[in-house]
Amino acid sequence: MGRGTLLALTGACALLAAAAALPGLRAAWEAPGRTLPATAERYFTPEEAARGRAYTRPRYAFAIAGRLLIIPFLLVLGLSPAGAALRDAVARIVGPRPLLTAVGVGLAVFLLLQAIGFPLTFYVGYLREKTFSLSTQTAPAWLWDYLKGTVLGGALFVIAVAGWSALARRFPEAWPLPAWGATLLLTILLVGGAPVLIDPLFNTFTPLPEGDLRARVAALAARAGIPAGEIYQADASRRTVKANAYVTGLLGTSRIVLYDTLSRAADREAQEVVVAHELGHWRAGHIWKGIGLSAAGLFVLFWLLWAVERQALRIPLLGLKGAGDPTSLPLLLGVALAILLLTAPIQHALSRAFERESDAASLELTGQREAFIRAEVALARTNRADLTPPAWAVFWFYTHPPVLERIGMGEAFRPD
Ligand SMILES: [Zn+2]
Repeated sequence: MGRGTLLALTGACALLAAAAALPGLRAAWEAPGRTLPATAERYFTPEEAARGRAYTRPRYAFAIAGRLLIIPFLLVLGLSPAGAALRDAVARIVGPRPLLTAVGVGLAVFLLLQAIGFPLTFYVGYLREKTFSLSTQTAPAWLWDYLKGTVLGGALFVIAVAGWSALARRFPEAWPLPAWGATLLLTILLVGGAPVLIDPLFNTFTPLPEGDLRARVAALAARAGIPAGEIYQADASRRTVKANAYVTGLLGTSRIVLYDTLSRAADREAQEVVVAHELGHWRAGHIWKGIGLSAAGLFVLFWLLWAVERQALRIPLLGLKGAGDPTSLPLLLGVALAILLLTAPIQHALSRAFERESDAASLELTGQREAFIRAEVALARTNRADLTPPAWAVFWFYTHPPVLERIGMGEAFRPD
């Protein structure tokens, strides 16, 4: 495949992506003031509803466009002789060394995908956040973050490709088994190591300062049976005005992190509700459960990819030299991303179930219905949530229940 074909292919993918983005853009331009559900009208103005729609709805389309940019590209690259040409070009540089060839092909594929995805990433991740006054970063600061993330992601990707290639060459009949074990181990190390090794590359973390909030948090944590010392504040305000909190880490690095955009807010009781939600995740072991669920999914995925590789080995046009030949990388990666996209509704339904469980824990631990509702309302305003997301968008993209559902949960709560 020549340079012209590659360009034409990229162009075609970009057009497809643009076509996918159009419905979302149209939805965003819909005139505000359509009737809102009664729950929304109790807590939000029509302007807030319109702002949330204008910000969030096109994001659905951009999310689809991002995938449509790279999946067809990978599949065409993987189902043409271009993959073998790429491998041979790398082998000419590194010599007849299969592991180095896998590293080279992995790096080339990673850089190609970054190059294709960069304009959309920059637009959605930076320019658009600026337009909506959500970003507090300068362009060079954003680029520096992007560069750090890309180097880290690239290193992990290349290690994964090299590991897969080595295992598949050694165990052509059963590589999914060792690959699955290695992935599981790496995942546990990464999740455990992220709060101390990776996250500090992007943010400064300080223990939540002494004071009223810390005392309240300590009381909550004691009620949930969790050590209160492990609650940190991140300097998220250097990047965004959005507010958030999350629970992270494993095996001694577990902690709750509050964005400083949240911990600086005036409503102490609402902050308490958010912390209690995170304590709910912690107490229910959602990180471990998430790792267990993705391990189950990966087990199936790896065997599917193994079967795809077996089929590809039978197609002489592709020029594969055996199991673990990095020539099949674009094809396997394209198939994997397509499967992950198609199964996203399952992953997100599980995530929403975890979030509902943590919302219930938050209400139970704090017993503060009004503060729970205030917190949801404040987060939805700050983060410009879509108050009435289309059902298909919730089904496909939502990791959390839509805000009105969460508010409804608060309204229905009766402390005993
Ligand atoms: Zn949560």
